[in-house]
Amino acid sequence: NVKRRTDLRMGFFDAAMSFAVTERMTLERSVKDALRSGQFELFYQPQVRLSDYALIGAEALIRWRHPELGIITPDKFIPVAEETGLIVPLGTWVLHQACDQLRRWNDLGLTGLRLGVNISGRQFREADLADIVADCIAESGVSPGDLDLELTESMLMTDGEGTLKLLRSLAKLGVTLSIDDFGTGYSSLAYLKRFPVDTVKIDRAFVRDLDQDEDGRVLVNAIISLAHSLSLKTIAEGVETESQASLLARHGCDEIQGYMIGRPMPVADFAEFAKSYCPRGPEKATVLRAGQ
Ligand code: C2E
Ligand code: MG
Ligand code: MG
Ligand code: MG
Repeated sequence: NVKRRTDLRMGFFDAAMSFAVTERMTLERSVKDALRSGQFELFYQPQVRLSDYALIGAEALIRWRHPELGIITPDKFIPVAEETGLIVPLGTWVLHQACDQLRRWNDLGLTGLRLGVNISGRQFREADLADIVADCIAESGVSPGDLDLELTESMLMTDGEGTLKLLRSLAKLGVTLSIDDFGTGYSSLAYLKRFPVDTVKIDRAFVRDLDQDEDGRVLVNAIISLAHSLSLKTIAEGVETESQASLLARHGCDEIQGYMIGRPMPVADFAEFAKSYCPRGPEKATVLRAGQ
């Protein structure tokens, strides 16, 4: 019945979506209204270091808490926001919200956490991104090194010089830069060397294939080796099982994020999670069992 309710909700929203295909204005206006009336919210998904399973950060993931439809995930509205340009004010809101939250965590003694924020293509090309990020940092007073901007490969493939300039001004602010969904985009890797990028986020498609066959492991191993040879850190997305985590650890992956550690959660749940989090991975679990 929970499942059925979800289906109904999705059906309802799909209907709203196809309506919006003919009446794009409708969805555009409701996203605009939702932003104005505070219906957007950030969920936080924990990230841990593979060497000791310490909680080292989180990714901020946007949700639309719709008064009738409940929680709506970003795949339902980010594309429209991107097409209409609403992603620019929405993305600015996300950055401010993320920095304010980081500040509140710091005030509560939850320090040293790195917060990842997704940046959309249009936000990257059109907004004065470096100015906006600088404002967010100044207003919240967070340390810039705690903020990580997640970019995608396609953003880095266009307009060489402009891109380099923007990335340099972002790096100069002291924030770190990640390549999200690594391996799913263009196959040119030249940008990895050329741009001031810090981390590669291995897409969950590769992580899913880890358990399947030898080829899956070969690819993940190649990505990690490539990243490390360029002095980039690696984090794997979509880690759901302990066997995936063990394989990633064996291949030298630095960090993981996924349902195995925790789902994206509302801010109150994340605070609770962080407070009661006890580092324990597959290796440690084995040791504990062995010792009993
Ligand atoms: P992403 O940045 O690659 O985020 C990771 C997605 O994988 C999230 O989906 C997360 O819930 C999901 N995920 C994490 N761990 C697991 C796992 O173990 N198994 C599975 N099956 N899935 C997992 P979500 O939250 O629906 O977000 C989807 C995409 O929407 C994001 O992909 C990102 O591209 C975009 N997005 C989310 N928030 C924002 C935002 O604030 N701004 C922009 N521009 N895009 C956003
Ligand atoms: Mg991301
Ligand atoms: Mg990703
Ligand atoms: Mg992804």
